[in-house]
Amino acid sequence: MQSFSNTLFADAETAYVDASYGIFGVPFDGTTSYKAGCRDAPAAIRQASYNIETYNPYYDIDLPDIPFHDMGDIYTECLPDLVVAQVEDVVLDLMKDGKVPVMIGGEHSVTIGAVRALCPTWYVVCDAHLDMQDEYRGSAFNHDCVTARVSEITQNIIILGARSGTKDEFTSAREKYHLYTADDIKSKGIRSVLDEVSELVGNDPLYLSIDADSIDCCLTPGLGTPEPFGLTPTDIREVVRTLAKNAVGFDYVEVLPNDAGQTAMVAAHLIREFIAGHACRSKHND
Ligand code: MN
Ligand code: MN
Repeated sequence: MQSFSNTLFADAETAYVDASYGIFGVPFDGTTSYKAGCRDAPAAIRQASYNIETYNPYYDIDLPDIPFHDMGDIYTECLPDLVVAQVEDVVLDLMKDGKVPVMIGGEHSVTIGAVRALCPTWYVVCDAHLDMQDEYRGSAFNHDCVTARVSEITQNIIILGARSGTKDEFTSAREKYHLYTADDIKSKGIRSVLDEVSELVGNDPLYLSIDADSIDCCLTPGLGTPEPFGLTPTDIREVVRTLAKNAVGFDYVEVLPNDAGQTAMVAAHLIREFIAGHACRSKHND
């Protein structure tokens, strides 16, 4: 039999019923404040995923040996609160069916729906921004309000790579949450920061959200709200490798595929790294 190309995430060929992971896209960018277009990210990231070898040498696993299924994209409503409700619905279904959700944004607001459904003990986010506005430009579900909405579900919040926000946001993040700015990570090193994070979360369930702009925009410029002086793709891979084993859900959001393809490529790699890391969690329990 010949191989056929398709538009699914590469190697996501397991039927839904047999899959342990459900990938889905949320092509929504209705509240983006600077450059719009991250609705095109799920398609760009799926396309990029075909460039990657099926074998993951770090985990010594072939991705086709992991049962994961690509459900396609949610046909999104146009208002952010409705899209958040759609995501919550999809994630509740995945939970009921015993599958780990792997969500591809779209803008960051979609994360709220997944966290609402999963109610994890910890929320760990890599982001240049604090996203702590209670309301922004007329909506409490703006992509600048994600952490504010998540804090209504859990106060155990760890923010990695932040470097942009108001004075009030930084003061409040330092008081209430575990904040590691991009500068903190630069001076301490990602490994030592992740040792502290592992100590904090222990064996508790966590939700891991990667906002693509946590990575320095000079490395991956395909972003709606680009920020320099950020983390590296390797730093984020270290985050994913360290935390995948505790994760009950994962997302990668805010890619704006208007660059030479490097931002979507990093995203595709890290989504695969999450699936491999989670699937191999019993092997890498140290
Ligand atoms: Mn964000
Ligand atoms: Mn951001």
